Amino acid sequence: MSKKVVVLGEAREGALRNVSFETIAAAKKISGGGEVVGVLIGDSIQSLGEEMIHYGADRVITVEHPHLKQYTSDGYSQAFMAVHEQEKPDAIVFGHTALGKDLSPKIASKLASGLISDVTAIEGEDDAAVFIRPIYSGKAFEKVKNKEGILFITVRPNNIAPLEHDASRTGEVTSLTVDITNLRTVIKEVIRKSTEGVDLSEAKVVIAGGRGVKSAEGFAPLQELANLLGGAIGASRGACDADYCDYSLQIGQTGKVVTPDLYIAAGISGAIQHMAGMSNSKVIVAINKDPEANIFKVADYGIVGDLFEVIPMMIEEIKKIKT
Ligand code: FAD
Repeated sequence: MSKKVVVLGEAREGALRNVSFETIAAAKKISGGGEVVGVLIGDSIQSLGEEMIHYGADRVITVEHPHLKQYTSDGYSQAFMAVHEQEKPDAIVFGHTALGKDLSPKIASKLASGLISDVTAIEGEDDAAVFIRPIYSGKAFEKVKNKEGILFITVRPNNIAPLEHDASRTGEVTSLTVDITNLRTVIKEVIRKSTEGVDLSEAKVVIAGGRGVKSAEGFAPLQELANLLGGAIGASRGACDADYCDYSLQIGQTGKVVTPDLYIAAGISGAIQHMAGMSNSKVIVAINKDPEANIFKVADYGIVGDLFEVIPMMIEEIKKIKT
């Protein structure tokens, strides 16, 4: 049966995040040839609607309001519920991002629907779609099917490939006026942590350091390698706890979940809580002095050695290739 699927896009600093395009691709799979409607909530986001259409949305609805400039669950849920009321979709797709993780349970409870969260792959299409999601910190995967009612899923970033960008696609971008009232929280100011370079959650290459890096200065060769490969720096909780780096870099069960094309783990033992955040990476390279380290069990390439010798050698070789 063809479905109307509503997809929530996410913008940051005036541009759509990749996850917006990945959710459109997921929506296409489950729509059975039906309609994919993009939704953008914020302030001054009208101009981003076309980009969602170029990536496969059939039309886009924007909800703009000064109170929606920053995300609050109260504001966004009022805006999204107004779109839901107008569109009455058969299915909803959000990104499994900080925003999506916060907003989706609230919306699901308002709609009295189920929620299939953190989907990493979709097998089959349309009504036969089966959703795959990690359980037990990524130790196993379960396959879930929606039995009845509205289908609501959140999709883990970097797992479902976006459709190809097609600038010739056209579609309607309309705005919906919603009165945003009774906000219990108001964001007065956002103070950003100054993090250098590439955004860790969307990076294609991640160089992660653990306690084996031994100090904050020990991250310098990792940073040089990340710069060369256009990647981002990540860390284990061991490295964060030891104050070698900021907790915003932590990857794992209680940190960020990343799925880059290349993940290099340097001086990380491979605790289950760390692997929950990186084991879905496409290629994993582990550098560890201990040949018995657990990280080698998930690594595609393992290098037994001292990271302070191995990483400079990698840097030298990559520089040779690049020149
Ligand atoms: P270690 O386990 O100490 O490993 C250091 C590794 O470095 C060793 O394997 C050693 O052989 C290697 N090494 C040392 N020197 C060198 C060198 N010169 N060259 C190469 N290798 C070297 N952890 C996370 O990462 N993310 C999480 O989100 C997370 N959440 C948690 C949640 C809970 C509820 C709990 C209980 C724990 C959580 N942890 C998490 C902690 C986790 O259990 C581990 O303690 C942590 O991941 C260990 O960090 P590490 O691998 O850097 O340190």
